[in-house]
Amino acid sequence: MASFELLLLPGDGIGPEVMAQVERLVQWVNETGEAELETTSDLVGGCAYDEHGEAISEEAMKQAVSADAVMLGAVGGPKWDDVPYDKRPEAGLLRLRKDLELFANLRPAICYPALADASSLKRELVDGLDIMIVRELTGGVYFGEPKEITDLGDGQKRAVDTQVYETYEIERIARVAFELAQKRGNLVHSAEKRNVMKTGVLWNEVVTRVHKDEFSDVQLQHILADNCAMQLIRYPKQFDVIVTDNLFGDVLSDEASMATGSLGMLPSASLGAEDENGRRKALYEPVHGSAPDIAGRDIANPIATIASFAMCLRYSFDLGGLADRIEGAIAKVLDQGYRTADIMQDGKHEVGTTQMGDAILSAL
Ligand code: ATP
Ligand code: MG
Repeated sequence: MASFELLLLPGDGIGPEVMAQVERLVQWVNETGEAELETTSDLVGGCAYDEHGEAISEEAMKQAVSADAVMLGAVGGPKWDDVPYDKRPEAGLLRLRKDLELFANLRPAICYPALADASSLKRELVDGLDIMIVRELTGGVYFGEPKEITDLGDGQKRAVDTQVYETYEIERIARVAFELAQKRGNLVHSAEKRNVMKTGVLWNEVVTRVHKDEFSDVQLQHILADNCAMQLIRYPKQFDVIVTDNLFGDVLSDEASMATGSLGMLPSASLGAEDENGRRKALYEPVHGSAPDIAGRDIANPIATIASFAMCLRYSFDLGGLADRIEGAIAKVLDQGYRTADIMQDGKHEVGTTQMGDAILSAL
């Protein structure tokens, strides 16, 4: 039986509450007998700063590097507003992304039929929606040099950000997107602005070549990023996998998330380079933050974190069957009318965090 080491970093705010539901699912996985998951837990974010004076300890970083996958809850909160910049809670997450070289950010936008009325779009446009946005996470304009503001005198300043991409960075993110598409709807849209940006020209060229050489069985469409934004609102179900750079991916994934209804529902995965055994470093976390306003009350929606765990089973442990079952259980409890406060609708049954975990476990 395959066995895996999973590092749990619950973090701050509602992080520990939603992660507690994942721990129950880890136990469920072990009881299925299909795999053995061994978990360790450590601190990240504000709680790690309180304990060690750093947003993540060296010991926890070591664990993260050696584990088969990492699950993170959320970091931050008003309590740490005044800590030094390089020790702020988010620094723990950035350190993880950087040291594990997590270059591919996967953000699914899935609309459960039971929640289609909560979408910003009409029900018929989103009912059954299942898009995967693959965002390049370690390059592009957020990191390129020079990055500076220069004082020009006379009250004038000049600000510069630099968008840089090299061939290998585009190749590896393109491969992630094509491999995903092969297991999904077999369609990739590559979004860039080749009409006005050199990085867009290179992006288009490299994605085209990787497609031709390695993935010609997948359907590839090139789309200008602004048109992609428009099409996501006009008719989102035309998309399967969208691959794009760091900046466009930031915007397009937030845009797509609104089609699904609630922040409390959205999972994410960040994948790193393959090691010599073909294993990727990976970090799974909900899209939402630490929600300090509702922390400690057992009312947070745990579904985003549970769905992130399902992604972990699928992508890091090759347990797609168990991931399907968890996602099926989420859909089922929503059909049965269970709702946490953030997704509450008239006539439904309001439950807290633990009760939502109970419902999902009994559906399983
Ligand atoms: P961050 O800066 O960490 O992204 P944020 O300020 O953008 O945090 P969140 O912490 O994600 O925002 O919370 C935004 C709002 O959504 C809050 O009112 C919060 O209560 C609510 N919220 C976020 N996650 C959940 C959840 N899992 N269940 C219920 N409500 C949530
Ligand atoms: Mg936020």
